[in-house]
Amino acid sequence: MKILFRLLCCLALAFSAGCATAPRTAARPLLLVSIDGYRADYLERGLSPTLAALARSGVRAAMQPSFPSLTFPNHYTLVTGLRPDHHGIVNNTMYDAQLGKFSLGNRKAVSDGRWWAQGTPLWETADRQGLRTATMFWPGSEADIHGRHPDYWKPYDGTVTPDQRVDQVLAWLDLPPDRRPAFLTLYFDAVDHAGHSYGPDAPQVDAALRETDLALARLVQGLEARGLFDHMNLIVLADHGMAAVPLEHSVLIERQIDLDQVQVVSLGVLAGFNPRPDHDFAAIEAKLERPHPHMHCWDRTRVPARLAYGRNPRVPQLLCLADVGWRITTADYLASHQGHVSLGEHGYDNASPLMQALFVAHGPAFRSGVTAASFPNVDVYPLMTHLLGVPAQPGDGDYHAVEDMLVPAARRDAGTAGAQ
Ligand SMILES: [Zn+2]
Repeated sequence: MKILFRLLCCLALAFSAGCATAPRTAARPLLLVSIDGYRADYLERGLSPTLAALARSGVRAAMQPSFPSLTFPNHYTLVTGLRPDHHGIVNNTMYDAQLGKFSLGNRKAVSDGRWWAQGTPLWETADRQGLRTATMFWPGSEADIHGRHPDYWKPYDGTVTPDQRVDQVLAWLDLPPDRRPAFLTLYFDAVDHAGHSYGPDAPQVDAALRETDLALARLVQGLEARGLFDHMNLIVLADHGMAAVPLEHSVLIERQIDLDQVQVVSLGVLAGFNPRPDHDFAAIEAKLERPHPHMHCWDRTRVPARLAYGRNPRVPQLLCLADVGWRITTADYLASHQGHVSLGEHGYDNASPLMQALFVAHGPAFRSGVTAASFPNVDVYPLMTHLLGVPAQPGDGDYHAVEDMLVPAARRDAGTAGAQ
């Protein structure tokens, strides 16, 4: 009877706008955890025992990020099911003719919903279906997108410790049923920071892996103490991997073109340039599109199709992508950042083995002890909408490509969406 009621409720919610605002409780909460920069093979280092245990009793895979393999584009892909070219967060640093400049440290831009409005994040869809949502940090969650925030959210603050982040998620799960979130996110950044500062093979990365795993252990213990651990679905993943970039692996772009003749939108792994009035951009493009050691440059209309990038108006007209293990920079930048140049980078071709990201899933909906084939991260979104029993927005992901991760009773054809 309970299942029948739930099915009827799902149907009503799917087809009736009038029902969409009525609060309801999903059968099981879904917690999405991001460990920024956790490369897929870090799991083999033996420094993440909690994560390894989740993988042993759940599903694991190497997950392919979307291009460019950068933090903001991929976090927004995970919660929208859209490639960056489609959701509009095309880089961590970008330029829009109407909105101006966007960068990670620009709080005004980051919290301006207009940057994010080309996509519909999962918390918005869940909210429209009457589910409560909570984000313990996630790119986009600070913005009012289409007039909505998650029900519970926090402005990004890197000084909040991993344990405090875990405790906040547990506190949200302790709320009474009518206020308890059904979809939650949790975000850790220490592994990414150590990877950038010291390179992926440094002992500091190992220390960050241990520290983050301790926070995950606290999470698991907290869920067990509440009787939730075996009754909710948990997805722990990363946005991208990390490659070592020695200092001497620097392409000095000013040796190729006169930077006064272009608008420099971004440098780093993926450099972007727009024309400036009164300068011959076609000649600059022709020069850069010739073969260069350690980087490839394209007019945005000629980016290889497999990267699925270049149609969004926010993508600069000319792109230069560094080869894996290289950076695109200037002599001035290197001189002014001595001792502070990143020795680890991402943003590269998303097919690179070094860019592959962690994916571990655990809970009643997931099979146990399964290593799944590598899959693109756009598929996480339709997997999550299925688990929550909410309609998926049209997107680039494919639920059927990841359905094998689920126990038969939790698959779509079992008619139990949201019930597992
Ligand atoms: Zn990242």
